[in-house]
Amino acid sequence: MSERSLIDFTNLAETLWPTATAESWDQVGLVSGHVQAPLTKVLLAVDAVAATVEEASEWGADLLFTHHPLLLRGIHTLDEETSKGALLAQLIRNRCALYAAHTNADAPEGGVSDVLAQRLGLAHAVPIVPGADPAAGIGRRGFLPEPMPLRAFAELVSRVLPPTVTGVRVAGDPERMIGAVAVLGGAGDSLLDHPLVRDADVYVTSDLRHHPAQESLEQSAASHGPALIDVAHWASESLWLEGAAERMRAALPEVEFRVSTLRTDPWDFAVGA
Ligand SMILES: [Zn+2]
Repeated sequence: MSERSLIDFTNLAETLWPTATAESWDQVGLVSGHVQAPLTKVLLAVDAVAATVEEASEWGADLLFTHHPLLLRGIHTLDEETSKGALLAQLIRNRCALYAAHTNADAPEGGVSDVLAQRLGLAHAVPIVPGADPAAGIGRRGFLPEPMPLRAFAELVSRVLPPTVTGVRVAGDPERMIGAVAVLGGAGDSLLDHPLVRDADVYVTSDLRHHPAQESLEQSAASHGPALIDVAHWASESLWLEGAAERMRAALPEVEFRVSTLRTDPWDFAVGA
């Protein structure tokens, strides 16, 4: 078997999730590491946080590959009394590189929203906001093979996603029949007013805030609009990791790809529900 280097991963990642297709505000690609370093073990996770960095170190990973960029906004120190300084120092000491594929991994076929649509069994799914490649873009809108009540659909969502403290929160009549479904993995406030979302029977996304959610529901009561399903941000994006690992295993069979089983959703417990 031929030896693999980090550059084999970065080349592959560039074909699967071209960095040029990321949003202009995003920061994707190689964060730390040397492209000539040997590559035998890659850990995939949604977030680079203390728990996943520790997991990568314990396993002896050469690369931690995350969805969220650790360095999205400028930092000015690697002081190890800062959380990001400590994480990067630990990674570098353990010869573990760090790489992120974020909005460039949201949009394409097999991307975060596409996988969510597939796992919910949506047919004829198309991007809500198409990109330059019309098969890619932000979010997906498709149809259930058979319409079902909102309550049953919410239970399907809950079975598909890994469990989290906040679970699956639903706004709408539980008996309402659901056929057309809009999904957006990660924070989805921005598409609440999109015509393809307004026209759907339900919108599944994360991080819906009080005012945008309430205004959308009031508008739906006045005319047609979707029921809302709010799921944990981490959960909605975590489904993407296994498919990404499979595609990379196929291209780099000499390298071991492992998906972290750690839950990096920030919430630990809930009371009073
Ligand atoms: Zn996200």
